[in-house]
Amino acid sequence: MDKKDYYEVLGVSKTASQDEIKSAFRHLAKKYHPDVSKEPDAEAKFKEIQEAYAVLSDEEKRKQYDQFGHAAFQNGAGGAGGFGGFDFSGFDYGDIFDNIFGSFGGGFSSRSGGSRARRGSDSLMRMKLSFEEAVFGCKKDIQLDITERCPDCDGAGGFGEKTCDQCHGSGTITSEQHTIFGSFLSKTTCPKCKGEGKSYERTCSKCHGNGQVRVNKEIEVKIPAGVDTGSRLKLSGKGAAGTNGGPNGDLYIEFQVLEHDYFVRDENDIYIEAPITITEAVLGCKKEIPTLYGNVTLSIPAGSESGEKHRIKGKGINNETTRKKGDMYIVLKIVTPKKLSKEQKSLLEELSKTDLTDDDDIKNFTKFVRKNEK
Ligand SMILES: [Zn+2]
Ligand SMILES: [Zn+2]
Repeated sequence: MDKKDYYEVLGVSKTASQDEIKSAFRHLAKKYHPDVSKEPDAEAKFKEIQEAYAVLSDEEKRKQYDQFGHAAFQNGAGGAGGFGGFDFSGFDYGDIFDNIFGSFGGGFSSRSGGSRARRGSDSLMRMKLSFEEAVFGCKKDIQLDITERCPDCDGAGGFGEKTCDQCHGSGTITSEQHTIFGSFLSKTTCPKCKGEGKSYERTCSKCHGNGQVRVNKEIEVKIPAGVDTGSRLKLSGKGAAGTNGGPNGDLYIEFQVLEHDYFVRDENDIYIEAPITITEAVLGCKKEIPTLYGNVTLSIPAGSESGEKHRIKGKGINNETTRKKGDMYIVLKIVTPKKLSKEQKSLLEELSKTDLTDDDDIKNFTKFVRKNEK
């Protein structure tokens, strides 16, 4: 993965002072914070900025970065570990963001909380399917560990609604804070009502006031006919739970389809190789051929060659997602006999004495052999 230079990310020089780094970070964090930014890639950008700042604002890490580059923080090298990159678990952004966004008037949520409804994240599940399951579609039971609206309090978290006595219904608490960026009037989310502005006479005992309960349940998923390795099925609302009443994320199921012993798939078309004997190829024959929908009888004309393809229209995959129908292809493979009985051998020897050279390919080749003689 190509990572951008941390100095470039923050737009500072390699010799920038800590003050310059802080100020660049503050400026960019405001611009790209996912809560306020309208940029389409704000979240990714914001992460990049955070990461660059985490390293460059720490003299020790900055030194390592200057010496080794990104390699300093890859697995096993700099000792930082993590998923192929830098480990941020020990770095606290809480203060810095509370102050930056607190100064806007408390309308933005930050890491430390807030009552803003947030959609849960999407999750990905992988599933193996047999060839037939993928081709025809199937039903599968999957175990989900999801959060649902509490059935007892209907998501409210309690009973007997009243105005919060700590914030008097505003949901926020204002205090003055002195920080590296100067003094700010900082608004923080009311810890008692978590920004709701209201509380309840009695907290719901089932969900302990969360309004949500975690449930482990099995659901049946209908997999449409025609999915293939790498295709994804989206189950809306079955991902991670949202917070503060936000909707759940989505669950994606990604498929891995196992191979079939005989059928080979190319998108919605199905191929099968049909071995035939030399006499069947020479004389022509009728052959029973398996398809997805049972056997069919195929007339193979006299003089067939290996590799010849016969198409049966519409006998491929009936794809429920794309609404396209594939075809079935039968590819002939002439098998040269290796074990011959005495009788077969003598019959073939008789045959070889006859003239079988009346064929354009053979005639032309023989002509070329003669011409090539030295
Ligand atoms: Zn309150
Ligand atoms: Zn409840």
